[in-house]
Amino acid sequence: MKVTSLSSGSSGNCYLIQHEGINVLVDSGLTAAAIQKHLFTCGTSIQELSAIFLTHDHSDHLRSAGTISRRWGIPIIASEKTLKASKYRWDKEVRLEALREAQRTGALAEPRGYYNTEVLPVGGVKSIGGLEISSVPVSHDAAETVCYTFRAGGQQGMILTDLGCATEPIFEPLYHSDLIILEANHDLSRLYKSARPQFLKARIASDHGHLSNEQSAQILCRVIEWSGTSHTVWLAHLSEENNDPKNAVKNITTCLENRSIFKFPLKVALRDKPSLSWNAQDSLFQAQMLFDF
Ligand SMILES: [Zn+2]
Ligand SMILES: [Zn+2]
Repeated sequence: MKVTSLSSGSSGNCYLIQHEGINVLVDSGLTAAAIQKHLFTCGTSIQELSAIFLTHDHSDHLRSAGTISRRWGIPIIASEKTLKASKYRWDKEVRLEALREAQRTGALAEPRGYYNTEVLPVGGVKSIGGLEISSVPVSHDAAETVCYTFRAGGQQGMILTDLGCATEPIFEPLYHSDLIILEANHDLSRLYKSARPQFLKARIASDHGHLSNEQSAQILCRVIEWSGTSHTVWLAHLSEENNDPKNAVKNITTCLENRSIFKFPLKVALRDKPSLSWNAQDSLFQAQMLFDF
């Protein structure tokens, strides 16, 4: 199993999971053209996607999912409420595309294709080839937000972004995840000092908003204290205005050190381009090496 971050942040989220010829996206928050370009650099294409799993109906996660599904017939898998809310947003996007096309060609054509969707109930599990994907509910202000864990060949990863607070169901899957992609959205003091409207600051900091660096650190401390340090951790969904990679790593490392967890390596998934890649085989090899010695 290989996992690549294609983009992570409020301008678009998209992760590629590959296993034995199966290619799956978690979220599709970039344009179809950008996804096409990034998939090419990963040795695949939109046509070779088996599915797009959507976490929730915010535009930085679903942007091109409807277009990709209509144009290439790729199944979109999500909870029932997320699909319902997403279709409304995709319809708007498809109408806009048709209008842009009409401006170019002078003729208004009916949008082609249909949305190929499949409901995965919250807490449900879906297998595609040897890849098994499970949904886990999280606290966020969309119709029905979930995060996903993915398992193959005895290894597991989890993408945990877009949540305002830790809730009990996230922990058990985290303990068993070799790769953890963890939201570190904002530095709370920077958020409060920012020029954003008060209602927006309150929304981001609420239990249904996004995780601060400190909240991420608390989650990570509990995971490490319960299940050890053998997790690869990427910090993700960083705010452009109220955080930056250096600051996030520094804040979280300080919190970990206050709990006597030293030298824990943290990487940061970048906002606007493919950045990190994790190969389960390498991680398994490293674990075996540690065990051997
Ligand atoms: Zn988001
Ligand atoms: Zn969101």
